[in-house]
Amino acid sequence: MCRYCGEPGWEIEHVNPLCKMGDSAPFNNLVLACTSCNQTKGSEAGFHLNEENRLTWYGGLVGPHGLYGRTLMALVERQRLDRQKRQGSPVAAYKEQTCS
Ligand SMILES: [Zn+2]
Repeated sequence: MCRYCGEPGWEIEHVNPLCKMGDSAPFNNLVLACTSCNQTKGSEAGFHLNEENRLTWYGGLVGPHGLYGRTLMALVERQRLDRQKRQGSPVAAYKEQTCS
């Protein structure tokens, strides 16, 4: 089940992209995600697993009792677009995906 929207999904997703993780424990960083959420999120920052291994985004719980599905992904997308505007780079989203 996708940890971002609750729909069925079986892709392994790194909550914090490996390139931004330093050497922290990778097993606490893996969740299942659906294709749609995985692609929308990309390497977007702000996601963490809290002490109870529940997914949060800037401290807000993600999942059945928090930010959820399309609402969450719309916020993530808006944040990405805002940052692109500030940076003035139309290819920022693509670059983030590849973690170059
Ligand atoms: Zn999903």
